[in-house]
Amino acid sequence: MSRQHVQSMQLKDGIAWTGIHVDDVWKRKVRLLICHAMGAQPGFDLSQYYPRSKIDIIVKRILHMDMDAFFAAVEQKRRPDIIGKPVVIGGSGDPSKRGVVSTASYEARKFGIHSAMPLCTAYKLCPNAVFLPVDYEEYSRISGIIKDALRGITPILEDVGIDEAFLDISDVKGTSEEIASEIKKKVHAATGLTCSIGIAQNKLLAKIASDMKKPDGLTLIDEKDIADCIWPLTVRKLWGVGPKTEAHLKVLQINTIGDLAAQPIEALVEEFGTAYGSFLHSASRGIDDSELVTHWEPKSSSRETTFQTDIDNWQQIAKHLADLSREVSKDLKRSGYKGKTVTIKIRFSDFKTVTRAKTLEHATDVLEEIRKAAFDCLGRVELKGKKVRLIGVRAGNLEKADCAG
Ligand SMILES: [Mg+2]
Repeated sequence: MSRQHVQSMQLKDGIAWTGIHVDDVWKRKVRLLICHAMGAQPGFDLSQYYPRSKIDIIVKRILHMDMDAFFAAVEQKRRPDIIGKPVVIGGSGDPSKRGVVSTASYEARKFGIHSAMPLCTAYKLCPNAVFLPVDYEEYSRISGIIKDALRGITPILEDVGIDEAFLDISDVKGTSEEIASEIKKKVHAATGLTCSIGIAQNKLLAKIASDMKKPDGLTLIDEKDIADCIWPLTVRKLWGVGPKTEAHLKVLQINTIGDLAAQPIEALVEEFGTAYGSFLHSASRGIDDSELVTHWEPKSSSRETTFQTDIDNWQQIAKHLADLSREVSKDLKRSGYKGKTVTIKIRFSDFKTVTRAKTLEHATDVLEEIRKAAFDCLGRVELKGKKVRLIGVRAGNLEKADCAG
């Protein structure tokens, strides 16, 4: 705790607060400790006793993004003839064969079709639905595009599946609404698809929140919303409560998260063991200290454009190269990285691709430096008599901006 400095402050009811500025886990533990010391119930709003600005230092801002009916939406996007129709994606796409529903479009959900349901049941509920096979390759490709867009917001991202992710936006500039709307815009611009977003102080609540107003929803949950928004929900909405636990809880007449929160911890520990019992107790109160699992450091930041029609006009090529350099510089600044190697990629109309790279003296995120390096690279490409199909700019050899020279 070398960075700690202690500032004492008298709270309204006389409890001394020590503002210990240490790492985030400790900050939250200190905060919880204060709530417990004050005999606070879940939903207790510490801010009434403590200035908001100080609270913000302590509370994390976690965002959960979940694509809306992802597989079905991808299929509807590439096949406009099935927009607005009930679409069921699953197995081989043949409802007379074995297989379960992976995703049902919102139109299909109106017939009671949901994921994990056997395809034959879905067919009985809506014989007119469009049944399609799962095309993982395409969904993964789109997923990659989405995750790249999200990493432009922050590199602190936990990839939790093909169509969802957690982002720690504690240090991202802007209000939660602004950040959410930027993400929605980016995802839509890159894919034409919509997503739903939940923002809360931890992963547990953010995940519940993103599911509350689908599709294209945005839900912010604060600690004081727990009783109103979370407690009425069924226990299955808690991450980590599966059908088995749900059945077990039902026997104990515990149906909602609120029912669970009303249980003394001893009763839950006795019933479910120490680890899971205490987990259920904390989770029902919206408490979750788990960190984002990122295991991810960006290796490069890149942007590319494929032209509607191939171009051979040097000025147009130069304009696109300058635009892409600007995007890469922006991405780097936003994510807090600097790149040392600038690479350009040019794909010609015959699909032959060339790359040229330039390594700089020092890592940079400055537009002029990136653009100059990109144009140096372009000067080393023979363009005469060739048509260009795609141009890309990449900054590699990344270093964290605060330790880069
Ligand atoms: Mg989804």
